[in-house]
Amino acid sequence: MKKKLTFLGIETSCDETAASVVQENSNGTAKVLSNVVSSQIREHKKFGGVVPEIAARAHVENVDFIIKEALKKSKKKIKDLDGIAATAGPGLVVCLHVGYNIGKSISEFGEKKFFPINHLEGHALSPSIENKISFPYLLLLVSGGHSQYLIVKGLNNYKRIGTTIDDAVGEAFDKTARILNLGYPGGPNVEKFSKLGNKNSYDLPQPIINRAGCNLSLAGLKTDVLRKSKNIKSDQDRYNLAASFQDTINKILRKKTEVAMKMFLDEVTNKHDNSFVVAGGVAANETIRKSLKEICEKRNFKAVFPSKEFCGDNGAMIAWAGIQRYKKKLFSKKDEIVRSRWPLDKYAPFLKGPGLKI
Ligand code: AMP
Ligand code: MG
Repeated sequence: MKKKLTFLGIETSCDETAASVVQENSNGTAKVLSNVVSSQIREHKKFGGVVPEIAARAHVENVDFIIKEALKKSKKKIKDLDGIAATAGPGLVVCLHVGYNIGKSISEFGEKKFFPINHLEGHALSPSIENKISFPYLLLLVSGGHSQYLIVKGLNNYKRIGTTIDDAVGEAFDKTARILNLGYPGGPNVEKFSKLGNKNSYDLPQPIINRAGCNLSLAGLKTDVLRKSKNIKSDQDRYNLAASFQDTINKILRKKTEVAMKMFLDEVTNKHDNSFVVAGGVAANETIRKSLKEICEKRNFKAVFPSKEFCGDNGAMIAWAGIQRYKKKLFSKKDEIVRSRWPLDKYAPFLKGPGLKI
């Protein structure tokens, strides 16, 4: 019987210290033997956002313990592993260094192969941890730092068809929560308080909704939330504005997803079951999930949502990307370094900044 590959994955690109041991299954999915995540919510709460130096220090304090815990829970020792994967970008460089350096050191001393992983590739491949899914598929990645539509054509073969030209969706949730004083972390709190509000109370803008393909723009929406927040008189007004904001994001994602689906169908010739995958922290939002599932039904796409534990940042998706790279013999150069920017589609233009023409 062919040996099943087992990898340790380490993730420290932002504010989660995470490690996981993952073993491949014979049917193309993965068995997650352990998945340990330590969130730094407490550290960043009083600042209302992630402070890079504080995040890096917390990673240093936790990472060895988290890795030990992941190994212990999986009942594996370093000698049992086939390789070690660690996030090498994109993300906060001071944070990336922590997981990358410890992963590289363990692999050197344990004489294991080391895989520096693109965090976005981790998200892009995460649906196949739990689901048998064939390439190509359409991916919406919506997290704190990224919002993109990608055609995942295969391992190491990604085409970005849309991106945010300013704020990421998670970032817009976080900023709205800060403006409305709903607490940190923003996304889950906006979702929670939206349930108490009336989503039809405020009419908010949907920038570039009818142009620029499936690119997104959210800065104008956030600015309008800020402007309207000045006239808030009661808690009920805050909840109403939160609900209206969430509903506006929902409408934008519905519309842009329909555009992205059309682009996918035009671009891809070797179709299978037209899967549409939503990954990243925002994919945890129930209203958005429900709404995108409806679009899938309408457009004949198969909706795939990774479980919530694999939506946010985690080590399992990094280990899983490492396993898939190992199988395809996609080894990295020894001198690969961490990087803050690392687009999955290297041909996609950089679409951020003033004066953009889209
Ligand atoms: P990630 O960058 O993938 O770790 O995801 C974190 C981002 O997801 C943050 O910006 C959160 O505010 C956002 N997020 C997490 N849960 C939710 C939710 N339920 N609704 C909206 N955004 C969320
Ligand atoms: Mg992420």
